[in-house]
Amino acid sequence: MPELPEVEAFARWLLPQVRGARLESVDVPKPRLVRPLRPAAFARALEGCRIVGLRRAGKCLLWDLEHPGGRPELLVSHLGMTGVWHVLSEGQPLPRHAAVVFGLGGRRVVLEDPRQFGHLRLGPDAVPALGPEPLAPGFTAERLATVLARCRRPVKVGLMDPARLAGVGNLYASEALFLAGIDPATPADAVDAEAVVRLHGALREVLAAAVDRNLRALHSDHPMLYQQGGASGSPEQGGLWVYDRAGQPCHRCGTPIVRLVQAGRSTFWCPRCQTR
Ligand SMILES: [Zn+2]
Repeated sequence: MPELPEVEAFARWLLPQVRGARLESVDVPKPRLVRPLRPAAFARALEGCRIVGLRRAGKCLLWDLEHPGGRPELLVSHLGMTGVWHVLSEGQPLPRHAAVVFGLGGRRVVLEDPRQFGHLRLGPDAVPALGPEPLAPGFTAERLATVLARCRRPVKVGLMDPARLAGVGNLYASEALFLAGIDPATPADAVDAEAVVRLHGALREVLAAAVDRNLRALHSDHPMLYQQGGASGSPEQGGLWVYDRAGQPCHRCGTPIVRLVQAGRSTFWCPRCQTR
């Protein structure tokens, strides 16, 4: 499932390709993604708009648009579980699960979404309430300590709550907790100060590395991790420490990685390396 690093990579990759372009046509092959609007109303609201900017908020991509008269419009897109953005040049066929297609005069920008859990909505109200952005310059270990101190749930569950911390999902929460040596079941408010500092560093490290890796994938036309259903190989080779590795030996100590269900989601962890 796309998380902060995937959406951030899409934003940085798309922006230089679309900035200044006009939405000449808007087609919605999968109406479910634009609900509650009907496809015709969605298209009518956007056709003619110019793309002024593109930025990420949590796991959402925010499209800053401008109507021909200058009135601003905000398009909020979420990739759901399987969404992918494509930029197609003239003559390139649409991907099989094309959900929404923006015609930019020659080129087309396409949201493909096989499982259709993504969405596109209009207006600032469509932006969810979000906690601090973990890659923002002002996100310090003290800020993370404040976030965790207000949460009595397991630290893994707390990290994944977008209202507490923006953009962190299952994969990067599991990986960061491994790197910080923290047991994912520890109550968030019981993580000690030293472990919070390690977790802060680990979160920023795994997220920043994943943004870079995803950008390289986009520029070389390779799939991102979530598109290929996980990773193989050691972390040095672009693989993962614990996520989706139940039963396989820990890359650090050889202990089999354990899968645990927390708040309905799978957590992966090493019982020997994660003791705090
Ligand atoms: Zn281990």
